[in-house]
Amino acid sequence: MKIVVIGVAPTALGFAYRLNELKKENVEEVKNVELIMLEQESFVGGLSCTAVDNKGFLWDMGAHITYSQNYPYYDKATSEAVQEWNSLQRNSLVDLNCMFGETGIHLVPYPAQFAVPLFAEKEKENCLAELKERYENECNVQPVTFEDWILQNFGPTIHNSFMKPYNRKVWTIDTSKMNPIWVGSRVAKLPQKKLESLCAMSKEELVKADFGWGPNAYFTYPKYGGIGAVWKQMAEKLPQNWFKYKSKVVSVNYRSKSISFIENNNEIIKSMKYDILINTAPIDKLINETKLCTPLNIKHNKVFIVGVGLELPMTEFCETITWLYFPDPAVPFYRISFLSRFGETTPDNTKYWSVMAECARPIEDPITEEEIRDQTVEGLILKSIITREQIVSIYSKTINYGYPIPTIERDEEIARAHAALEPHDIYSRGRFGGWKYEASNQDHCFIQGKELADRLFLDIPEKLYKTGLPEHRG
Ligand SMILES: Cc1cc2nc3c(=O)[nH]c(=O)nc-3n(C[C@H](O)[C@H](O)[C@H](O)COP(=O)(O)OP(=O)(O)OC[C@H]3O[C@@H](n4cnc5c(N)ncnc54)[C@H](O)[C@@H]3O)c2cc1C
Repeated sequence: MKIVVIGVAPTALGFAYRLNELKKENVEEVKNVELIMLEQESFVGGLSCTAVDNKGFLWDMGAHITYSQNYPYYDKATSEAVQEWNSLQRNSLVDLNCMFGETGIHLVPYPAQFAVPLFAEKEKENCLAELKERYENECNVQPVTFEDWILQNFGPTIHNSFMKPYNRKVWTIDTSKMNPIWVGSRVAKLPQKKLESLCAMSKEELVKADFGWGPNAYFTYPKYGGIGAVWKQMAEKLPQNWFKYKSKVVSVNYRSKSISFIENNNEIIKSMKYDILINTAPIDKLINETKLCTPLNIKHNKVFIVGVGLELPMTEFCETITWLYFPDPAVPFYRISFLSRFGETTPDNTKYWSVMAECARPIEDPITEEEIRDQTVEGLILKSIITREQIVSIYSKTINYGYPIPTIERDEEIARAHAALEPHDIYSRGRFGGWKYEASNQDHCFIQGKELADRLFLDIPEKLYKTGLPEHRG
């Protein structure tokens, strides 16, 4: 049986890692399985790669954080790949300057809904009254939109002062156009007891308070090579004849079960047969290409990454921070991360430090990478995070598929795609292959790949990724 995979990033590597394991265990079902993974780039990792700029600073494609203990299988595979890890305490804050009518930076602990006691007086009073009302009158109406969910759980003050502007910046669409299905593990609710204990604290105590991150209070990051080192080194330990780089898949013929691809950017089109095709590239493109069903009504945004490399000393108030969130519309970024605190990501961490900004825009937004880069530098200066004189390097990158947006129609549309693809032995998984934000981080994608292997070879139903189709499909 020949399996062809489009893309070599966490999803494909989860599949390949599991297949390799089953082969090593001499599992009968995989003895005759042949795998080939086609990657258009010359490197592994996809959105989880790390670039090096011409001054030697390392840049991930956005902050790439995973917390251990969510998936032991992922933890085992990644710790086999990379030997030296840093463990960092999460210290994330949010800039609520607009609430205070300020133009600079006004930080409170994140998530903002836990920082109600530190809000401006009027907002604090309103929030407490709105939360009290919600604790006393449980609402049993199912929210239809993300906005409904926020209003039901927190009330209009948190919605208007933080949730709405912040989410608008990340998702680039309104909270009223998003579904509430994905929020479960992503947006923390604020239990009444927790709010009461936070309200009883002094301002000094609050800044150091336990915000209930539990096992997520710490995250790990490779000491060397950025996040991309995980995937590069994992791939190096797998059979090398499974990988085919600089090979861009340009069409899929589901009738003849073959794909066409071009190698090394030359014009000669080659083709390859498959028995099973696994797609980890965007599912909307696959549907447009195969026309197996009508185009999908799903949405994504684009993200600009801007990395600024600087000479030490680091700005003092940033020294203990891991990342910051910005609802403020005056700056283009929704989040910045102090990447040089995560690992050795500068040419020399005794001389330099670095900060990386993420800015999201609708796909049709005409703003250029250069404009975003300039606005980011000015924004970082406005927020007193950097000074112009310290800058030694500026990196930027446009990611055309940044976030798969959890719109209201999403699940029905994705189920429609899987129903058209799977009868033809085409499986689409991963961040944009599966298009489910709540299951689109590196660990989720790796596990999606692993569980797909278990399903195809051992007939074990997938648990993490829900296609929307009946579970036992043979
Ligand atoms: C801004 C941002 C922030 C993020 N933050 C985090 C985080 O904090 N924590 C976390 O765990 N994850 C984070 N992620 C998500 C992480 O990047 C993804 O989980 C992961 O990279 C998804 O892996 P994948 O295999 O599904 O696909 P991708 O990474 O999308 O890779 C798909 C691969 O397919 C290749 N490809 C596409 N089309 C073709 C073609 N036609 N032919 C051949 N090859 C093709 C691409 O080149 C690419 O290598 C973030 C992502 C972004 C963009």
